[in-house]
Amino acid sequence: MNIPFLDLSAAYRELQPEIDKAVARSLASGHYIGGPEVAAFEDEFATYCGATQAVGVANGLDALHLALRAMDVGPGDEVIVPSHTYIATWLAVSQCGATPVPVEPDARTYNMDPNRIEEVITSRTKVILPVHLYGQPANMDPILVIARKHGLRVLEDGAQAHGARYKGKRLGAHGDVVAWSFYPGKNLGAMGDGGAITTNNVELAERIRVLRNYGSRVKYTNDVQGYNSRLDPLQAAILRVKLAHLDEWNARRSTMAAHYQKGLVDSGLILPFVTDGVDPAWHLYVVQSPQRDALLKKMGETGIGVLIHYPIPPHLQRAYTSAGYSKGQFPIAEKIANQCLSLPIGPHLSAAGVAAVLAACKTAI
Ligand SMILES: *Cc1c(COP(=O)(O)O)cnc(C)c1O
Repeated sequence: MNIPFLDLSAAYRELQPEIDKAVARSLASGHYIGGPEVAAFEDEFATYCGATQAVGVANGLDALHLALRAMDVGPGDEVIVPSHTYIATWLAVSQCGATPVPVEPDARTYNMDPNRIEEVITSRTKVILPVHLYGQPANMDPILVIARKHGLRVLEDGAQAHGARYKGKRLGAHGDVVAWSFYPGKNLGAMGDGGAITTNNVELAERIRVLRNYGSRVKYTNDVQGYNSRLDPLQAAILRVKLAHLDEWNARRSTMAAHYQKGLVDSGLILPFVTDGVDPAWHLYVVQSPQRDALLKKMGETGIGVLIHYPIPPHLQRAYTSAGYSKGQFPIAEKIANQCLSLPIGPHLSAAGVAAVLAACKTAI
């Protein structure tokens, strides 16, 4: 049995009539930048996230970058980021000319450990940037308490967590701004690139609206040196269709995760740990094993699509050589990178597929 890590064409097949209709409507509208589809998606996504404002942008990295710019992050500033994350979180900070300051994760949840934040705060710290990694909400309450105490902003990287809840409330406006990616493989994925920010802060939202459009509020009048980072109307039309199915598709992921949790309980693998009070979006189902590389190889040979998120932590990437980090400096992130393995999960994985993954895991270990 061949099980792909994620079947994106199956997602299209399920919604094909609706998506084709939305694309045709968008093409016929004559609006190829901005326009009604983008505005409607922004409204619907803000409402879904429990935020008053949503601003569509070109991708998730830009959402992070423009949010930091709107918070006036620039050269000399420091932004606290997780040591264990996708590199985009760090790159957004570096693109502002600011310095990413890593904090190790809680080894069980993989998310930024609030107990380690205060020790790295300096007079240059401006923003705390937690990531809701793998779809599990970061521990927001203590992070917000620390931010308030030190006068810092909080930008959340929600790229992997559309629809996840923290203490009953959907992610979208716990911190000052949430940055979202609609990369095709995300829980809410476009059929190309896309991104957005959500917030309850009208002023920050307005700044991001200006920054995404050449720094212009009125055509041919430029208030700041902005960017071209707009959400494509075709993608907005597709995202409107997919948003209406997000909760149902997340529920399927959740059922799969429950099967994995139960089926692998005695496997010897380290399984995802879900803290009280959060409802993860189960973007990824990540296990750990000291024999990860052997497991990866055997699963591959059985035809099971498995991946590593992520094999090299940002501080050890060549892209950050100039920052002068060394091996062993962030041991928790490095250990996760060496031991983690993501099993297939997604709204179009069948029950037979889940059973095949479980069987393959048990023979491989
Ligand atoms: C996907 C992702 C991003 C970047 O999103 P793009 O749309 O690909 O630019 C940022 N942060 C995290 C944690 C991601 O998973």
